[in-house]
Amino acid sequence: MTTIEFKGVTKTFNNGFRAIQRTDLTINPGEFTVILGSSGAGKSTLLRMVNGLETPSQGEIFIDQRKLTPQNLRHIRAKVGMIFQQFNLVNRLNVMTNVLIGRSYYRRWWESLFYLFTKQDYKLAHWALERVELTDKVWQRASNLSGGQQQRVAIARVLAQKPQIIIADEPVASLDPATSLEILGLLSKICKEDGVTVLASLHQVNLAMQFADRIIGIKQGKVIFDDQPVNLLNNS
Ligand code: ADP
Ligand code: ADP
Repeated sequence: MTTIEFKGVTKTFNNGFRAIQRTDLTINPGEFTVILGSSGAGKSTLLRMVNGLETPSQGEIFIDQRKLTPQNLRHIRAKVGMIFQQFNLVNRLNVMTNVLIGRSYYRRWWESLFYLFTKQDYKLAHWALERVELTDKVWQRASNLSGGQQQRVAIARVLAQKPQIIIADEPVASLDPATSLEILGLLSKICKEDGVTVLASLHQVNLAMQFADRIIGIKQGKVIFDDQPVNLLNNS
C-alpha cells in the first residue's frame, strides 16, 4: 500500500499569497485521513499537490517513496485518483462513458473519445459501477442523475483506474446531509475493503469525527491538529 509524504512543502501563488506553509506530513497507507479546516484554510491546495494539479513552491512530495516530478506525473496519476466537490463529470455523456474515461486517465478527456476501449476497460468499468451500486444507470446521461449519484459515478471513474490512493476534495460539500453520509460511507468501505488509502478534505467536524481514522486540522496553511478523531474535542 502507498504512502504520501510531504517534506517541507510550501505553496506560494504567483500573487505572493502563501496557501501552504512549510508542511511535513506522512499519510499512512490504508487509512481514511481527513483534512479538516474552514474555507480558505488551504485544504484544496494541499490535496491538489498530491496529484500534481498544483506544484509546491518549495519542498518535495513523495508517493510510494517516489518523488513527484513533472516527468513521472502520469505514473503517479495512475496510482492517485481524485474526486471533487462538483463531481467533474462530462454531463452530456452517459455513465459508462464517464467511467471509461477513468481508464484513459493519462489522456485528455476528449482524446479518450478517439480511443478504442478494450474488453478489460469495460470489465473494470462494470466492476466499478457495481462497487458503487449504479449498474441500473449505466446508459443514463450523467446530467440526468442526482448529485449523490453523480458523485458515485465519479468514484466509479476513479475505481476503474484501480487506484492505490483516492484524493477527495470536499466530496460532499454539494450534497444534502443524508447523501453526504452515504458517499462518505462508500469511501470508507472502499478504504477498508479494497485497501485504498483515502485522503479527503471536509469542513464539517461531525463528519470528520464519524469517518476518519485520523484528522489533520489546518488553518491558514498550517497543520494545527493531527491525531485520532477521539482526541479532537479534548484539543483546545
Ligand atoms: P497562478 O496560480 O499561476 O497565479 P491562476 O490562473 O491559478 O495562476 O491564477 C491567476 C491569478 O488569479 C492568481 O495569481 C490570483 O491572483 C488569482 N486567483 C486565482 N484563483 C484564486 C483563488 N482561489 N483565490 C484568490 N485568488 C485567486
Ligand atoms: P480550502 O480548500 O481550504 O478552501 P484553498 O486551498 O482553496 O482552501 O485556498 C487556500 C487559500 O489560497 C485561499 O485564501 C485562496 O483564496 C488562495 N488561493 C487558492 N488558489 C489560488 C491562486 N491560484 N492564486 C492565489 N490564491 C489562491
